[in-house]
Amino acid sequence: MSTIRSDAPETVYVDTDTVRCDGGAAGHPLVYLNLSNDGWIDCPYCDKRFIKGEPPADAA
Ligand SMILES: [Zn+2]
Repeated sequence: MSTIRSDAPETVYVDTDTVRCDGGAAGHPLVYLNLSNDGWIDCPYCDKRFIKGEPPADAA
């Protein structure tokens, strides 16, 4: 039996250097994150990962 991991950090693909995150349903203070250094960043509050670019096309 397999279950969907609910604690896996979400990955969000964006096309901007700056994103903002407020944690969605979980909720945390609104923060602005800058992806310009590495092209990706993890939200320090909810661990959501923001990646600049297109999502991989090999999703099964
Ligand atoms: Zn967040």
